[in-house]
Formats: sequence, C-alpha cells, structure tokens
Amino acid sequence: MRDTLVLNASFEPLSTVTLNRAVVLVLQDKAVVEQAHPELRMRGAALDIPAPRVIRLCRYVRVPFRRQAPWSRRGVLVRDRHKCAYCGRRATTVDHVVPRAQGGQDSWLNTVASCAEDNHRKAARTPDQAGMPLLRRPFEPTPADAMLLALGRDDLEALPEWLAQPA
Ligand SMILES: [Zn+2]
Repeated sequence: MRDTLVLNASFEPLSTVTLNRAVVLVLQDKAVVEQAHPELRMRGAALDIPAPRVIRLCRYVRVPFRRQAPWSRRGVLVRDRHKCAYCGRRATTVDHVVPRAQGGQDSWLNTVASCAEDNHRKAARTPDQAGMPLLRRPFEPTPADAMLLALGRDDLEALPEWLAQPA
C-alpha cells in the first residue's frame, strides 16, 4: 500500500501516513482529501471513497523547525533519482565522496548515488584521487523536499505542480 502525503492546513508537506490512517483522518473530519488515486478506492461496510494520495489537515499544526532533513541511504538514492554520480547509469548503492576511511561522514553533502561498479572502482579514494569527477554536486534537500522524495518518484511526478515545487 502506498503512503499518503499529509499537508498542513497551510498546504506545507508535513509527513506521510498509511492509506488507512489517512482515511481515518478524513472520516474523523480532521483532514480533507486534496488528491485521490484515480483508480483506487477504499471500500468497507459503510464506506466507499477514493483512496487519498494527498490529504490536508483542517487545523494548522505547529511543527518544530527542523534545520535538516534526516540523512538516509534511501533518501540519497531518491534525491539523485537512482542515477550514478560518476557515469549516469542506474545506481543501486550510495558512495561516500570523501571515503569514511578518510574521515568522510554520512551526510547529504558527502554522499551520492553510485552504480555498484563505480563504487567498487572508486574504493576508498576521493573523486580526485580516483580520477572520477562527479557529474553533479551533492546537495542538501529541505525537509519539505525530503518528504516529497520519500514518496517516491512516481508519486512525485503525479503531484500537482504547486506541490512538487521545493518549498
Ligand atoms: Zn556508475
């Protein structure tokens, strides 16, 4: 089951919840459906509604300011759209630009998506040491980006333009 994106009353992406949780929020009048899956419906005893892809909370929720989206390997792959930073082919691994052996950290700015072959070839060297220039610089997603990235590429592309824009 796909997760549902939850928007704050102010339309900012807030989090994702399971489809079932999203339906409960709607049935409890805590949220309204902003966008539904075109062909998927939630059916129950007294229930038949389109499966919500995006819901918006009716009341504004104050969230503590987060400076950084939490780093994750999956997040790096999604941020880089599963494209290898060294050759542009499909990436399945995460490479540390400055290798951990040389003090490189698990961080957005020090990690890129990489194909297994290039990851192996680069080994514990920096791009300069390995003679493998980066096709693009790693960047730090905003928390709102990270939320949208977490939804996966298909959902991201299906979202309305105003929502897919980074905050
Ligand atoms: Zn590669």
